[in-house]
Amino acid sequence: MVVPLMKKSKNRQIVIIGAGLIGSIMAVALASEGFDVTVIDGATEKDRIKQNEGRTYALSRTSKNLLANLGLWDAKKLNVSPIENIVLSTKSGSDDNIKHLAAFNKESSEVEPSSYMIEDFYLRTVLGSKLNTNTKIQLINSTEVIQDETTSYETKLILSDKSSFTTEILIISDGRESGFAKRLDKKFFKKHYNQVAIVGNLSHKNEHNFTAHQLFLSGGPLAILPLLGKRSTFVWSLPEQMGNRLSAAQDDIFTNYLKEHVEDILINPSQIGEKKMFPLYLSFLSETIDNRKVFIGDSAQAIHPLAGQGLNLGLRDIACLVDTLLKGKKLGLDLGSTDILKKYESWRSFDRISLMTYTDLINTLFSNNNFYLKSLRELGMNAIDKSNFLKSFFMREAAGEYGDLPELLK
Ligand SMILES: Cc1cc2nc3c(=O)[nH]c(=O)nc-3n(C[C@H](O)[C@H](O)[C@H](O)COP(=O)(O)OP(=O)(O)OC[C@H]3O[C@@H](n4cnc5c(N)ncnc54)[C@H](O)[C@@H]3O)c2cc1C
Repeated sequence: MVVPLMKKSKNRQIVIIGAGLIGSIMAVALASEGFDVTVIDGATEKDRIKQNEGRTYALSRTSKNLLANLGLWDAKKLNVSPIENIVLSTKSGSDDNIKHLAAFNKESSEVEPSSYMIEDFYLRTVLGSKLNTNTKIQLINSTEVIQDETTSYETKLILSDKSSFTTEILIISDGRESGFAKRLDKKFFKKHYNQVAIVGNLSHKNEHNFTAHQLFLSGGPLAILPLLGKRSTFVWSLPEQMGNRLSAAQDDIFTNYLKEHVEDILINPSQIGEKKMFPLYLSFLSETIDNRKVFIGDSAQAIHPLAGQGLNLGLRDIACLVDTLLKGKKLGLDLGSTDILKKYESWRSFDRISLMTYTDLINTLFSNNNFYLKSLRELGMNAIDKSNFLKSFFMREAAGEYGDLPELLK
């Protein structure tokens, strides 16, 4: 038997698995604080861009602060569109009219909007050039970890190209189907929504006035979010069967169906590029840390997209983890020590649990036609709509401004 020749293990202070948005931004954040970091991804940079073509994200004000603090926020390059107003409405069937529930407008005292829309392609392009030029970052593409072993002082990784690394701490950001979490036999809380989300972009005749619409339909919520120019993104959560059928439908059939639901929110919408479909489920790691390992981003928690908060949550993971590691480094501590990891985990737990619960509850409450639930949600929304205090509270939540904020989010 021919035994493959192993190259000598290289030592890196920090290794990140997964160069999606979260893994890549984590690398830039760590490098900006002087850490040496290696990022490993199973796909090529081109594949990651292609796979996410046309995707957009609603980012909160604190997420914007994080990108700005890392030199990644360039409003022009990122094609940033502010969200100035949020309108929540409901519609029971295509024959019913849209019924207003609540509206949140940018307060006159506020200098900045609570959230922004950004486009995936631009963010990945800005990130790509940072990853490839920062000497503190080593990016390894098209390579997987085939074996890992952790002792009391390090983790050793063997990669598919037969190279190997030892590291003090392994940060795992390999996405919502985390192979690493399965491999480590981590316990997940999983809930299938029996829904899929269809996402895509539209051009239209009317101005959107930087208003984001959340339309609660009986099968699931439909979000219409403003992009620069007379363009909008849609994220439509639908029952599985219906979603599969609509996703496979020709673009004009799909757009006509969408038109019936959005009434005059969009005039003459026409699809730009391809639409994408995502099966929807909640996947939540009860313990995000392991021996010298920590899970962040979707590998730790993948939530329902109705509030557009998944990436924001992952960015908050990054900000808290960088803060915790930096404090550890200043004290000369071992970065993978249980003390440091536990500190990070307890800092993140309230935010993770509350967003998981809140998105799950809203989806349950709004994605059906049960008379009592319908009355309850309309009553609740009316109360919010009439209270300036509650509105201001929810706008601050949308901006991500709550709890003990780490430096990168300020
Ligand atoms: C329909 C929809 C709409 C959304 N809208 C919003 C929004 O408006 N705002 C918002 O904040 N969030 C939104 N989200 C959530 C957001 O998309 C995710 O939270 C975010 O993209 C997760 O990024 P990630 O880097 O953690 O994971 P991923 O993007 O999944 O990246 C994982 C990376 O790991 C790599 N990888 C996987 N396995 C391995 C392995 N074994 N070895 C090496 N590499 C590996 C993959 O190649 C990939 O590059 C939405 C989600 C959906 C489904």
